[in-house]
Amino acid sequence: MCAHVEMRGVSKEFYGKVALDNVDLSVQYGDFFALVGPNGAGKTTLLRIIDLLEKPSSGEVWLDGERIDYSRRDLHVFRRKIGFVPQRPILFNASVFDNIAYGLKFRGLSSHEIKERIKRTLDLVQLSGFERRNALKLSGGEMQRVSLAQALVTEPRLLLLDEPTSNLDPKSASIIEKVLLDINTHGMVTVIMASHDLQQVKNLAKRIAILNRGRIVKIGSPNEILVSPIDELAEYMRLENVFSGFSRVTEYGTSVIEVSEELKIEAAFIKTGPIRIHVPPESITLLTEKVPTSARNFFEGEIFEISDQGNIIKVRVRVRGGGEFTAKITRKSLEEMKLNIGKRIFISFKASSVKII
Ligand code: ATP
Repeated sequence: MCAHVEMRGVSKEFYGKVALDNVDLSVQYGDFFALVGPNGAGKTTLLRIIDLLEKPSSGEVWLDGERIDYSRRDLHVFRRKIGFVPQRPILFNASVFDNIAYGLKFRGLSSHEIKERIKRTLDLVQLSGFERRNALKLSGGEMQRVSLAQALVTEPRLLLLDEPTSNLDPKSASIIEKVLLDINTHGMVTVIMASHDLQQVKNLAKRIAILNRGRIVKIGSPNEILVSPIDELAEYMRLENVFSGFSRVTEYGTSVIEVSEELKIEAAFIKTGPIRIHVPPESITLLTEKVPTSARNFFEGEIFEISDQGNIIKVRVRVRGGGEFTAKITRKSLEEMKLNIGKRIFISFKASSVKII
């Protein structure tokens, strides 16, 4: 059987600058394919070429066994079988229903069928009852779920997603991941997703390609790819809060990882010996005062960087002993806590949120 998506020697230049360099790729029907790579690696360009929005400078793209001629006037016929969820939702100032119905307008469906489909899709993304709400007045996570609904309502056989959960609240991110797993496993939808979330890629992907400077540097199953040296992975996946140290088991059945003399991190697993760990930024709580907490890890530090990521703000904290932690919080929390660079702050996280990598 032919591959669902095939690229042969695809290159793309923008005004002489190479965005993709001789990419060969084959994605089978029903695959869950993750594209990872640092900023500017070419992930979005690759997705846009598959979505027929961007024409390759050279090389061949095959969809459903048919070679794509990008100069065809009827490319929309191919595009109808593809769903695309961009990094930032494209919504207009109207109801959630109208935003989702838009993609169905040209498909000749009855209004009854349109209503049914929208209801089913909103149920799937856990936004039942949101039909009449204004799409632009939703939270970032809800908007991204409407964006996913826009793509899914057309019942595509191929779904492309560009970092669908980056900077989302954990609840929306987990709803989106659940939907993706469900449509891939039960709906047999082929999924190609750009991501930089290691845990997400581990949980969802059947195959992974690492893209760097427009080239595929590695391709394989999660087991093959995720054994790469951690420094390499951390760079490609923009992993934050990676520490290495010596782990010792405690009498309470946890482990303490000595990162430095002053920085010791407690984890819920049992492990002795040298290891590397990862603390997801979403699992870190920032506190302006020293308060009692059940979290096993509690450190004092100073904020040295604050960056705006859209709905989420990234706050970097240097703790005593030299460790640097990144936490992600909402803008509301930033304002309420009056955080600024140089401010003294406490960070805490549970032993169970520490992962071995
Ligand atoms: P990110 O993770 O930051 O979204 P990416 O891996 O998706 O990055 P691309 O957006 O595909 O990377 O960009 C690859 C390269 O092509 C970058 O150097 C980018 O500046 C360039 N590029 C992409 N689109 C255009 C465009 N329309 N015009 C000019 N240059 C572009």
